[in-house]
Amino acid sequence: MTANLPPALGAALHNLRILIVDDDVGTIRILAQVVREMADVTFATNGMEAVNMARTELPDLVLLDAEMEGMDGFATCAALHTLPGMQDVPILFITSHRGVEIELKALAAGAVDFINKPFHPHIVQARVRTHLTLKRRTDTLTRLATLDGLTGIANRRAFDQALSQELRRLGRGMAALSLVLIDVDHFKRYNDFYGHQAGDDCLRAVAAALSGSVRRAGELAARYGGEEFAILLPGSDTSGAQGLAEKARECVVGLGVPHAARPDGSHVTISAGAATLLAPQPGDLDALSSALIGAADQALYRAKAAGRNRVLHADSMA
Ligand code: GH3
Ligand code: MG
Ligand code: MG
Ligand code: MG
Repeated sequence: MTANLPPALGAALHNLRILIVDDDVGTIRILAQVVREMADVTFATNGMEAVNMARTELPDLVLLDAEMEGMDGFATCAALHTLPGMQDVPILFITSHRGVEIELKALAAGAVDFINKPFHPHIVQARVRTHLTLKRRTDTLTRLATLDGLTGIANRRAFDQALSQELRRLGRGMAALSLVLIDVDHFKRYNDFYGHQAGDDCLRAVAAALSGSVRRAGELAARYGGEEFAILLPGSDTSGAQGLAEKARECVVGLGVPHAARPDGSHVTISAGAATLLAPQPGDLDALSSALIGAADQALYRAKAAGRNRVLHADSMA
């Protein structure tokens, strides 16, 4: 299945990791032996250690001893679930106690399954395999939901989420937020002349060039819709945004994709409009988001009117 996925998806696949938590080192050793063919194994011998471990090295599955000194399995399970990225990670309890009450308690704490002590290796392997398969499937679907099917870069949904997240951070430690809206020049003629499939190939190439021009953490290149793209630049001021947009424009020129059907008969180019919000900004998120997108869109419109293949920045947004 992964063979046909866009490169961004393939790159997301990593070795699966299992975290074993038990206050008995002998049990850890046996469990590690049982599951080592299925994943990389790390371990912790108490609840606090498990939480710290999960924070730094996000596991794909946790095997958790219910009965431990200090922080027990139930408290550990609840704490693990509050960590970022841990909500979808299956936690399987290993317990020597049976009964409705203990099972209900574990399920309420967020466990997905039980393995009874003394355990049979094949039962452990079968349960772990099932949950790792489901975890990998969930990860793939989660990523697919945020990626554009044609180009493999972030989709509109991911862009909208990132924009509202960054707007919330504006003023809380972040001084500026810039947005670049991009539109491929004379793309209708490109499709008409070369065909829709060549048009799709061209969009893939442009998307790769754009996402290759963002480097800093938090920066995002997304397909905004049709032949339009957006680049979100947290922390970038007017000149930072202008500089990056200019670099992105040059990257697309550098692709050298022939476009014989445009009036000047040369290569595929983009036009870009940039806009910047400086903190602090009054108003609700929707109003700020509309203002930023509206300003970038107007700058893009002016870039088109001024002859295309250029970047313009919106005037002051105060
Ligand atoms: P301008 O320079 O003013 O932007 O001119 P344009 O021809 O690029 O602008 P217009 O908005 O008229 O055309 C956009 C074209 O983009 C029309 C549409 O067929 C094409 N398009 C939108 N989405 C896709 C897509 O997913 N694949 C392909 N091949 N074409 C697409
Ligand atoms: Mg124990
Ligand atoms: Mg357009
Ligand atoms: Mg266009």
